[in-house]
Amino acid sequence: MFNPEQLHKKLILADPGFYTFELCEEIGQKLDRITELKAERNAVLLAHNYQRPEIFEVADFTGDSLELSLLAGKVEKAEVIIFCGVHFMAETAKIVSPSKKVILPNIQAGCSLADTAEAEDVRARIEELRNKYPDLGVVSYVNTTAAVKALSDACCTSANAVDVIQAMPNKTILYIPDKNMAAYAAKQIPDKTIIPWEGSCYVHHEIEPESILHIKEIYPDIKVLVHPECRDDVIKLADKALSTSGIIKYAMKSNAERFLAVTECGLSDLLKIQVPGKKFYRACKICRYMKMITLDNIITSLETLQPEITLPEDVRTGAERSIRRMFELT
Ligand code: SF4
Repeated sequence: MFNPEQLHKKLILADPGFYTFELCEEIGQKLDRITELKAERNAVLLAHNYQRPEIFEVADFTGDSLELSLLAGKVEKAEVIIFCGVHFMAETAKIVSPSKKVILPNIQAGCSLADTAEAEDVRARIEELRNKYPDLGVVSYVNTTAAVKALSDACCTSANAVDVIQAMPNKTILYIPDKNMAAYAAKQIPDKTIIPWEGSCYVHHEIEPESILHIKEIYPDIKVLVHPECRDDVIKLADKALSTSGIIKYAMKSNAERFLAVTECGLSDLLKIQVPGKKFYRACKICRYMKMITLDNIITSLETLQPEITLPEDVRTGAERSIRRMFELT
């Protein structure tokens, strides 16, 4: 049973104005219902680092795309995976765990970045570029549909994109779909030609350098940790460019006291809860897709086991091959 007082004490760390005691009482009842349903359904609940703070309370595991994909393949005893994240992440869980029922509590939870790369357009672009660069290698970021992963030589995440591209035998790489990450990788690997897909994440692309400079002026000692989906003029201001889990690990280990996590705002909320005693400031934006998952739609999805994520087997095996290649290369 969730104790509303303890819940309130914890959630106000993330947002004291929003999490009133009355709201925490209501949240506690919903969390109890989810716990009961998870046991009945033999379900495991995975939550991405950008989810709402109350969802972390009932998650079996939290993490970034890579960690959750790995975990999805390891939760042997569970029959059902409730994936609290966005559509491509739930697809990735299905790719690595084909025998399990994978549920995305709100089917509208897509991703503006993944949506920039339709499989048919990607196929056409690969054909066009292969005529010009016969040794072209295709690397797709995990933020792509399963169909795009199936067309790629290797998949990657924000934590290992540079390592994957570096390890590919090809000199010329088509990087899909994030142009900001492609530019970041190109700087780290000057001996390869990286051709970007013209996509970006609306959340990270909208973060302006001014908001970081403003906080740095007030706290010159602050450590600025930036997600590589941000623009180049923002990454330039970073002490480190890291994946979401990389940011958490860095903040936990560092001797510094103040941090600015420049990414989706959910990570700042999670950091305040997971790393008490250190100070986290905000230069972030909210992802409307990540926030589409609520305790209510988790309850409904556990009751109905819908909406379920399914994939044609040829797409699933093709995408699995590109994910396996990522692990081989790194
Ligand atoms: S933060 Fe950006 S990349 Fe992540 S799910 Fe939202 S739109 Fe997609």
